[in-house]
Amino acid sequence: MSDAPASPDGSPVLRMEAVRKTFGDSVVLRDVDLEVAPHTVTALIGASGSGKSTLLRCANLLEDIDDGAIWLDGEEITDPRTDPDAVRRRIGVVFQAYNLFPHMTVLENITLAPRRVHGVARAEAEEHARGLLERLGLGGKAGAYPDRLSGGQQQRVAIVRALAVRPRLLLFDEITAALDPELVGEVLDVVRDLKGDGMTMVLATHEMGFAREVADQVCFLDGGVVLEHGTPEQVFGDPRQERTRRFLRRIV
Ligand code: ADP
Ligand code: MG
Repeated sequence: MSDAPASPDGSPVLRMEAVRKTFGDSVVLRDVDLEVAPHTVTALIGASGSGKSTLLRCANLLEDIDDGAIWLDGEEITDPRTDPDAVRRRIGVVFQAYNLFPHMTVLENITLAPRRVHGVARAEAEEHARGLLERLGLGGKAGAYPDRLSGGQQQRVAIVRALAVRPRLLLFDEITAALDPELVGEVLDVVRDLKGDGMTMVLATHEMGFAREVADQVCFLDGGVVLEHGTPEQVFGDPRQERTRRFLRRIV
């Protein structure tokens, strides 16, 4: 762990500086700078292959970076002395495909990490989990197995599971991409609620209307470069870069 003092309030929850990531000969992230202020939502947009997932994976130390540095709450987590597991315990992640354990009930899925990784007592973990399930409209599903739930319900359980460890930061990677269109709304509603609660989130998304509505900051990735970033009004309403304009014309 770094010796840096805890960050004062208002300083970024996540900061990336000049991050470079390569896989073999291909440069997947190039000179990426990113600042995520507390209680804000950052939307990563860009074509498939532009580096959104890799950026999220680097932030969670699921990938080693080749150059640059990343800070979480003012602590440099890319410092070689950092314990990656300790960092991951402070970050909740939800991926595109709901990765619930099929042989565990909803409640067991949610309480696994708090109990095993964070050492929370079963009763306390279950009480917290039930409260979260209730809030996300899944109060009756604690004892159900994942295959009895709709895709939207499974993804909401995955969000509850990410929240159960009381994370500082949530990373969402196209969490609605695998859902039938009629189930997308209920998952986006949850993200809206979390924003209302003041959660700090970074989400890779193809839901441009949603990004425009919910994001405080939009970053357009193109070939591993953050080509443009700003408020939704600026990036969607008055993009500076021709490539951003072309991307938005194609997708919106
Ligand atoms: P996005 O999420 O925006 O679709 P990704 O971050 O998944 O983009 O991928 C960015 C680039 O990195 C792509 O060209 C992809 O093929 C490449 N890539 C991602 N993961 C790996 C990996 N483990 N090994 C090699 N190349 C990878
Ligand atoms: Mg991706």
